[in-house]
Amino acid sequence: MENKLNLPANFEGYPEMRKKGFLNMKAQKDMGKKVVGMFCSFVPVELIHAAGLIPVGLCAFTDEPIPAAEAHLPKNLCPLIKASYGFALTDTCPYFFFSDLVVGETTCDGKKKMFELMNEIKPTYVMQLPHSRDKDALAFWKGQIISFKEKLEEFFGITITEDAIRDAIRRKNRERTVMREFLELGKLDPAPLSGYEMGTRIDAGSFSFDLTERCNVVEARTAEVKAEWEANHGESGTRPRLLVTGCPNTGVRDKVIKAVEEMGADVVAFDTCNGIREKVELVDETNPDVYEALAIKYLNINCSVMSPNQSRLDYIAKMIDEYHIDGVIEIVLQSCHTFDVEAHFVKRMVTQEKGVPYLNIETDYSQSDSGQINTRLAAFLETIEK
Ligand code: SF4
Ligand code: SF4
Repeated sequence: MENKLNLPANFEGYPEMRKKGFLNMKAQKDMGKKVVGMFCSFVPVELIHAAGLIPVGLCAFTDEPIPAAEAHLPKNLCPLIKASYGFALTDTCPYFFFSDLVVGETTCDGKKKMFELMNEIKPTYVMQLPHSRDKDALAFWKGQIISFKEKLEEFFGITITEDAIRDAIRRKNRERTVMREFLELGKLDPAPLSGYEMGTRIDAGSFSFDLTERCNVVEARTAEVKAEWEANHGESGTRPRLLVTGCPNTGVRDKVIKAVEEMGADVVAFDTCNGIREKVELVDETNPDVYEALAIKYLNINCSVMSPNQSRLDYIAKMIDEYHIDGVIEIVLQSCHTFDVEAHFVKRMVTQEKGVPYLNIETDYSQSDSGQINTRLAAFLETIEK
């Protein structure tokens, strides 16, 4: 196995937490642990924890493997889908390599069809996600969650008890609470840390496979930042306070979030999958039906693949008030139709109901539009009165 492992060429340049995650994973595999790779916040990760398996996120955020992916996939597809498939195809992602089973979901069309191709490389189980939140959808989704549990049992030859699921729900709820408290540091004014740090720290946490350790590291950082802010903060800041919403932004963090912060703004809030989107609602620990509790929580994730999706608009409006937002940037990955179409409602709510400037950036993982994005960000900041 070691010989087949092909670490990315720039492995030495990775943040310490991620390097540590790679090596941790190898150590876990050497001890006989099994790994489940996944791509989306809708996957009920509690079942994977309850099974004693290691869940690992496989979404890819660099354009490096995209040319290889485009040999099989259309060019005008979301870069996240192409990059994720490209890593699998070229066997250059250690996490994919280490995964025994991959779990996909029918969130968007591009992803669900890509999983059919991925299944030819590695066993890929696809959960059928309904796209509404009525009672029929809930019953169907609960059935899908039970089927996924049965798949894990059959594939790995194990039994997943309800007690183990309850324990995993408690541990995962704690993690959501800890991450949310960290992200809510953005409510402080002046901003106590950069949005860039918030994003990278949350992402880095996903490379630590011990939930308790992950929580402890982030909890300690939250306490440290709060203490420092209380001791040193002055008047309310003069830098514009921005909310970032839309598609997963890890692959474009440098050219949008870092760039706008270097121009003098603070990104203080994230309505995104690597922000607060999945952490808003906990799984109800008091529901005697663990499958129903999981189904309710996951169906309420306010991703644009849901229709209608008023709860996303309501939550963004709430964040604008609570984080004292001066401007909203929506990031749409190229060819992501659901976020692209829903942007109409987001823009209307932000500008007309809240009276806040809004900028929509459609982009991909390449650097070819960096100059144009810089120009648009600078012009956007000029529209914000502070
Ligand atoms: S944006 Fe939606 S589809 Fe994409 S990872 Fe998040 S929940 Fe899943
Ligand atoms: S960003 Fe949009 S198109 Fe890309 S995988 Fe997520 S939902 Fe699908």
